[in-house]
Amino acid sequence: MTKTRHVPLTGDLSVDELRESGDRALEWIARYLTEPERYRVLPNVAPGDVRKKLPAAPPRRPETMDAILTDFEDVIAPGLTHWNHPGFFGYFATSSSVPGIVGELLSAAVDVKAMLWKTSPAATELEQVVTDWLRQMLGLDANWFGMTTDTASMSSMLALAAAREARPELKIRELGMAGRRDLPVLKVYTSEHAHSSIEKGALALGIGSANVVKIGCDDQFRMRRDLLQEAIEADIAAGALPIACVATVGTTGVASIDPVPEIAAICKSHGVWLHVDAAYAGVAAILPEKREILAGVSAADSLVVNPHKWLFTPFDCSVLYVRRPDVLSRAFSLVPDYLTTREDDNVVNYMDYGVQLGRKFRALKLWMVIRAFGVDGLATRIRDHCEIAAEFAARVAETVGWQVVAPVHFGLVVFRCAPAGMRDADADALTERIMHAVNEGGEIFLSHTKVRGRYAIRLSVGNIRSTREHATRAWTLLLEAAASATS
Ligand code: PLP
Repeated sequence: MTKTRHVPLTGDLSVDELRESGDRALEWIARYLTEPERYRVLPNVAPGDVRKKLPAAPPRRPETMDAILTDFEDVIAPGLTHWNHPGFFGYFATSSSVPGIVGELLSAAVDVKAMLWKTSPAATELEQVVTDWLRQMLGLDANWFGMTTDTASMSSMLALAAAREARPELKIRELGMAGRRDLPVLKVYTSEHAHSSIEKGALALGIGSANVVKIGCDDQFRMRRDLLQEAIEADIAAGALPIACVATVGTTGVASIDPVPEIAAICKSHGVWLHVDAAYAGVAAILPEKREILAGVSAADSLVVNPHKWLFTPFDCSVLYVRRPDVLSRAFSLVPDYLTTREDDNVVNYMDYGVQLGRKFRALKLWMVIRAFGVDGLATRIRDHCEIAAEFAARVAETVGWQVVAPVHFGLVVFRCAPAGMRDADADALTERIMHAVNEGGEIFLSHTKVRGRYAIRLSVGNIRSTREHATRAWTLLLEAAASATS
């Protein structure tokens, strides 16, 4: 039963409404976090099902928060794919956490736009502090400038823009790129395992997909430095200008680690900007025993890590580090008169370092996550995920007919079902059938990739509420699905 109540036509809802609907929303969240398995991880919906349940036109008259929350609970929540479900092992599994949720709520309440110091002094300074905390947690030296962005896709695009601006003689900021006979073809290098966001960033900057050179990988899926060197030299000989190389620490498909120190040396010798995409795995450097994964980053020009992936911070929160913020601001700073302030010379105005003017107050939730768990607590959770993944991989490896097809460095296991004597194409089809059968059950969600052209399942442990029991359950369901697919 929804209550009827007087809802004013001007001004905000009352704080009594806030308390009442806030209590109800918080209760829902509390239950959601304690009984996540109440929902299927993948919803049982076909395209258009949710839309059909929603009015096609907006309400003319105000509706009660009660009615709206009821629809959220009955229509929206069951139609979501539940990333916060502990059985979510797909893509790179991520999750929000209690301090992150509280931070997000407060950020919505204060609703500041962290664009100028003046528009949000504490937001700007907290962003400086918290990105510096994260830098220290990753074991990076002090000479990095950190800022938050919405996604790694944006962070990497900004890094590529900075790489281009690092060549001021090209005058791209002033003259653009189109119709210029004086401009060489600009080249960006990355591995064949790099995330698609790198190419997308190059597309957005007008570099062109043909000029994103995908360097082949070795048998561990790492960028081959000999091929990188050859590609750069061949392009220079052909009159092109190599501007940037993107190395990945934790590739999307298999979480491989490019040889950053060697790549950095090649970049240095050709004056190429090195950007490191550590969006997923970078936070693992918080663990002393994993710190090595960021070796060589000291010689990079920029780096991205995503707290919204594996640091229990609600989406969105990516952190971009650059060595030379002046180059980034040369690419993007454009200050109309109304945005000048008296403090400009003494402060960081984050709008100068990217495309956006208004920026979310992301630092708040990250600050709360780091404080509430502490560096040790974060490390323990990430370590636990790595251990769960290693145990899962060991089970797969010791089971006849199953193979782990990529090294397990972090929380990701990539594997397939390929019984002896079965043709590769049939094993592909079998593996795919098994994965879909598990996903259709609604308890566990897995995703897939292709490894050397062969179908493989990815199990990514990254959700703060995923335990050994969830991974064990995933394995049981996989074995059951395999048994019924082969019987
Ligand atoms: N880089 C890597 C290595 C990724 O795995 C991903 C996404 O999974 C991205 C970048 C893109 O992340 P975002 O969604 O933050 O743009």
